[in-house]
Amino acid sequence: MKKIFCLLILFVFSSLSFADVSGFRKYKLGTLEFIAIKDMDTNLGKSILLNPEAPVVREVMFDGQNPSSINAFAVKTKDKNILIDTGNGEGGAMFANLLSAGFSPDDFSIVIITHMHGDHIGGLVSADGERNFKRAQIYIAATELNYWLNAVGDRNSARLIKSVYGGDLKTFDYDANITPEIKALSAVGHTPGHTMFEISSGQDKILVVGDLTHNIKVQTADPSMSVTFDSDPKQAANTRIKVFRDAAKNKTKIAGMHIPFPGVGYLSEAAGGKYNFDPSYR
Ligand SMILES: [Zn+2]
Repeated sequence: MKKIFCLLILFVFSSLSFADVSGFRKYKLGTLEFIAIKDMDTNLGKSILLNPEAPVVREVMFDGQNPSSINAFAVKTKDKNILIDTGNGEGGAMFANLLSAGFSPDDFSIVIITHMHGDHIGGLVSADGERNFKRAQIYIAATELNYWLNAVGDRNSARLIKSVYGGDLKTFDYDANITPEIKALSAVGHTPGHTMFEISSGQDKILVVGDLTHNIKVQTADPSMSVTFDSDPKQAANTRIKVFRDAAKNKTKIAGMHIPFPGVGYLSEAAGGKYNFDPSYR
């Protein structure tokens, strides 16, 4: 069942991608560099929403379109490069866009994963079963890795990644720092070990929220709206509501894997429990 979900998600994203998928954007984050990398464009229709006939969907998605993307993010510190998520791998443009941004896969010593759906871990292992990041340690939340290692199916991505990366596959617990700049925080609901990452340098901060949203228009208008592939839709909604509230209150920049590329901006609270998303960076 889980495998079917994974394949379904990959199919939906792949089948809706467009030909031109190039793109990266570099930002300054304190003394760090924060880079948005596009893997591909997407346009996930309202059928992914748990309640596609809700009035709010008609109001904010009147044309039925949800142009968005699959993004990964890189962090450059003074002594290392860190990648957060790896896109789809085959069929995606993340590696080409990384190269355009000046990075080869061997430049990364750490790759951090928000969760183990195909559009986030697809870039870890090549089509012929080799590790794509030869010098990197891979970090995944312990709860997430264990969940997928125990999932049924003979083409199990978690077991493949474990066998390919061996001792370079590491786990972390929530609230732990993976590097001095990057802290792992629980964002459970989309998957059992879904994680977001707070990246700080001095007073500057950005929160990489992973798959907290898949339709920024509808989910800012109604943060309780989950999607069909949230493993626990109620928990996903509670997480989204809390993260939105905190990010808006604290004016924290957020970066999302399915917020339209480059996927960064600010949330602000509007009337009636709604939010506005401002796709800017300052
Ligand atoms: Zn995703």
